[in-house]
Amino acid sequence: MTLIKGIKNAAEAIREGRLVAFPTETVYGLGANALDAQAVRKIFVAKGRPLNDPLIVHVCPEWLADAGNGAATPHPYFEALFQQGIIGELTETQQARLSLLIYACWPGPLTLVLPRGEQIPMLVTAGGNTVAIRMPQHPIALALIAASGVPIAAPSANRFGHVSPTTAQHVRDDLAERVEIILDGGATSIGVESTVLNALPDVPIILRHGGVTKEQIEQILGQTIIDSKATDLTRAVLPSPGLLERHYAPDAVLQIMPDFAALVQRWGELTTAGQQVGLLLTRSQANAIPNIASAQHYVLGETLEDIARNLYAGLRALDSANMQFILMVALDRNGLGAAIMDRLQRGAVRDDKVTG
Ligand code: AMP
Ligand code: MG
Repeated sequence: MTLIKGIKNAAEAIREGRLVAFPTETVYGLGANALDAQAVRKIFVAKGRPLNDPLIVHVCPEWLADAGNGAATPHPYFEALFQQGIIGELTETQQARLSLLIYACWPGPLTLVLPRGEQIPMLVTAGGNTVAIRMPQHPIALALIAASGVPIAAPSANRFGHVSPTTAQHVRDDLAERVEIILDGGATSIGVESTVLNALPDVPIILRHGGVTKEQIEQILGQTIIDSKATDLTRAVLPSPGLLERHYAPDAVLQIMPDFAALVQRWGELTTAGQQVGLLLTRSQANAIPNIASAQHYVLGETLEDIARNLYAGLRALDSANMQFILMVALDRNGLGAAIMDRLQRGAVRDDKVTG
């Protein structure tokens, strides 16, 4: 089947209330018509996702108003989203702030928390009065949303709590027959999830680190913003379930080492004790290990962009090789390093295995 026919088919499935997995620039999503509660329920069942974990709603430019010329504020999307019952009302101040973000980051890996519109079922927002909206920057995702004619609710297309999928094969590995249609767009380019930002308050709060960095957002807004770590996470509806402690987890025990020397030492200890150990390494780290060829390892590349793009594939590859432990050196929390370290730390939290 040609890709165009595949997208047409998939759009029909979305309109019929069925599930479609599709690529975005961040990770693969498991999508359903965001306006159809029955369809959305299937996402939670397929993933084994708890109902208190809200979904991101994906939109495309085609059925919103003209994208504007980059100068107009408020951004014309607000009126279009409001008219379609996808979002609720925003104050002028909120629109001004959010417009800056939309002009700078959409389409792209920035998810904005907005007031819920009356057409969005409560299931999508986990009962909350806000809805998370994103316009992905991927030709297949955008074509699918445009052809469907409806907003698409989509979390990552993996079993709940597991490593997110960055290839169509990862989706098959995790969900198998639970998803009928998978649009294959090859490996995703960014590799970690979108940044989730609540820019409704005067001082916006970053709820999940991701593809757009805190530094970039601060530059766009010309103000400092708050990190969710500083906020109260004890509410019944999670402020952002990407904040769940155990998440993004491989099957192996993941250990984050403070530096390269510590990694090499730990690797020696574990192998001597007869454990199967996989190393997640940068190119230069791999080059610095003399007998690297005989070690189970996965090279992530060198830059933060490389590491983000290859991280989930690396975790999955070492899991497939039945490693009991995966070791990686910690990164600085600057730029994309914040998103990567966030995933690593959640992936490393074990409630079912003893960390050796
Ligand atoms: P996933 O697509 O599986 O990575 O998960 C979607 C993410 O979007 C979750 O981690 C939530 O944190 C976030 N999210 C969705 N809706 C909301 C909302 N209304 N308020 C805050 N965060 C949200
Ligand atoms: Mg997810």
